[in-house]
Amino acid sequence: MLSVEGLTKRFGGVAAIDGVTLAFETGSLTAVIGPNGAGKSTFFNLISGALVPDSGHVRLDGAEITGLSRAAIVRAGIGRAFQVASFFPTLTVAENLVGAVAAHRGQAAGMLRRYPPPGARARALEVADMLGLAEHADTISANLSHGDQKLLDIALALALEPRVLLLDEPTAGMGPDERWRMIERVQRLWRQVGLTLVFIEHDMDIVFRIAQTIRVLCYGRVLAEGTPDDIRANPAVIEAYLGT
Ligand code: ADP
Ligand code: MG
Repeated sequence: MLSVEGLTKRFGGVAAIDGVTLAFETGSLTAVIGPNGAGKSTFFNLISGALVPDSGHVRLDGAEITGLSRAAIVRAGIGRAFQVASFFPTLTVAENLVGAVAAHRGQAAGMLRRYPPPGARARALEVADMLGLAEHADTISANLSHGDQKLLDIALALALEPRVLLLDEPTAGMGPDERWRMIERVQRLWRQVGLTLVFIEHDMDIVFRIAQTIRVLCYGRVLAEGTPDDIRANPAVIEAYLGT
């Protein structure tokens, strides 16, 4: 289980995350929702070690990971995909993934094209296939569509074999068709790998369709948590976020 307790992060006078206590059960699929500026991305940054909290705890299966380096948090099993592309644009999909696989295994990452570490390409192709990118394995990453670039970003996180995967707005900037294709792949991945998956999403059709449970943040605090049915019927959520 991933849990946070009393988590707080201030930027100047503003508490972007203000005493948040939440848990995410192992193997669950959870959506984090809330208005712009609610603190959702900051929350992910605190869990993944991109930011250090001012106070509070982050624990994975009981082990304290608060304040560890990002590398240590990745090793502990927390992966995330970024909104901004984090791959090498001039390398192919497979080359990017081989690099991530090799790094994860502590294998030398130099000379990857000529001397890929043993087994790394097979694993890279397996990861590409999990996200439906197998047909693009030898495509230069910069030439992928926007949606496929986002899938590559998720694949790179997956190559590090996380137990928990955090996705910050995986469907941002996508048209309706691409959006559903992304969500279908994310959901399939979650089923296939048995991950604890937490995603931030603005599209309520998507949230209500696929999330098992929902956490609502508002002004850095937990406004509500529960099943999609609980959240739909929650007066505070309707007032603050869903509208009437
Ligand atoms: P969300 O992802 O829910 O839209 P954010 O976590 O990005 O919200 O932001 C929450 C609040 O914290 C906002 O008021 C935002 O302006 C502020 N904030 C986020 N990151 C920083 C930062 N690096 N420096 C200063 N303020 C920040
Ligand atoms: Mg955000």
